[in-house]
Amino acid sequence: MPAVIDKELCVGCEACLGECPVDAIEMNGDMACVNDSCIDCGACVEICPLDAITMQ
Ligand code: SF4
Ligand code: SF4
Repeated sequence: MPAVIDKELCVGCEACLGECPVDAIEMNGDMACVNDSCIDCGACVEICPLDAITMQ
């Protein structure tokens, strides 16, 4: 299941962008969003300082 970013928790720090091996995370204004390229690896979940990313 793909990564999902909680819009209420994300502060737009961009830490997760560099962690994704397939560039599936993009900034949408000041918030990160996961696109259809996500391969469900889970790498971004660990890096988020706000625990805003979960696998669903
Ligand atoms: S690491 Fe977390 S807080 Fe930072 S942009 Fe990504 S989802 Fe948002
Ligand atoms: S789960 Fe993996 S592929 Fe999907 S957005 Fe996170 S780092 Fe990228």
